[in-house]
Amino acid sequence: MGLSGIFTRPFQRTETFQGATLGQVIAFANQKGGVAKTTTTLNLAAAFKEQGFEVLAVDLDPQGNLTMSQGMDPDTVERSMFDVLVHGLPITEVIVPGEVDLAVSSIDLAGAELALSAMIGRERALQKALLPVRSRYEYVLVDTPPSLGLLTINALTAADGVIVPVQCEYLSLRGLVQLESTLSMIRENLNPTVEIRGILPTMYDSRTLHSREAIEMLKENFGDLVFDTRIRKTVRYAEAPVQGSSVLKYDPRGPAAEAYRELAKEVLNGATPRKHA
Ligand code: ADP
Ligand code: MG
Repeated sequence: MGLSGIFTRPFQRTETFQGATLGQVIAFANQKGGVAKTTTTLNLAAAFKEQGFEVLAVDLDPQGNLTMSQGMDPDTVERSMFDVLVHGLPITEVIVPGEVDLAVSSIDLAGAELALSAMIGRERALQKALLPVRSRYEYVLVDTPPSLGLLTINALTAADGVIVPVQCEYLSLRGLVQLESTLSMIRENLNPTVEIRGILPTMYDSRTLHSREAIEMLKENFGDLVFDTRIRKTVRYAEAPVQGSSVLKYDPRGPAAEAYRELAKEVLNGATPRKHA
């Protein structure tokens, strides 16, 4: 039996509350490492920004790859998302302006799971931290660690939508089912409206049968939930962060940048920036 029945693909637009437009929170999740969560968070954020949207990226991974990919060293960061989640520091204190605004991670964040586990409201720390900036940003993109622990649960609880990058080479449908069952629990207990926005095939190589078969399998199981955009395999995605930049800045005219512009179009689904003529 196909799995598409348990997924739905919503196209909700930005909600409004007391006249203020709240930014959409999108989490990038897959408990498997190396599937391009961080790469997708940064480059989609850069593509949104290029379109004129106000974007905040949040690094919720103790490894701090997103922070590094903007040219910062998470080992020397003094205050980070750890202080925000565990000590209630305002998130504005850890936002560093760059290509996009980035709430930084540090190695301390590795201790956040344990520190949070003893706190009341431990699953809602991120949701609460984002409240004061939800009207300032139109999109808040949250990068998560490769696990389904409390940090990822915080991201899923704060999120309106989830984008799931999957690597076409080592496709794990079991991993995706596990992610969906975590999401079901989140929906039941913490955040009834969170939905999967789409599954993003990454590291796609059209020359290999294996890659093409992986796409087929995703389509069979998840149907329309699979984005039309395919992120091809190219070394550009690894080169850009070494220069502290997104691929849109590193190689603006190249196909790697173009792929994330295409994804941005799919995710935006016709939405336009609220200001900027
Ligand atoms: P995750 O955050 O899921 O662990 P990353 O975004 O860090 O994954 O990507 C893992 C590695 O693969 C990184 O070195 C990154 O530069 C590289 N990478 C990401 N996307 C691609 C791609 N489309 N083609 C080739 N390499 C990629
Ligand atoms: Mg990562």
